[in-house]
Amino acid sequence: MTAPVDVVDRHRPTVIEVSGDTCDRCGPAVAAFVYVVTRTGPLSYCGHCGTRFWVALNEQAVAVIDCRHLITA
Ligand SMILES: [Zn+2]
Repeated sequence: MTAPVDVVDRHRPTVIEVSGDTCDRCGPAVAAFVYVVTRTGPLSYCGHCGTRFWVALNEQAVAVIDCRHLITA
């Protein structure tokens, strides 16, 4: 029988700093929906750029936050 997992001492959620809420490639007119933390710093991308670079981002980034489900337009 497996003992229940103790969740009291687990690590706190990591707070991820993002560079901004607009796409780093498209400019300040385009809202960001994909946030990436790389070894050299944070990046933000719109849904289009995030999808375009998705595979590379997931291979190279420390963390990826996908908010593309919030895109309504
Ligand atoms: Zn973009």
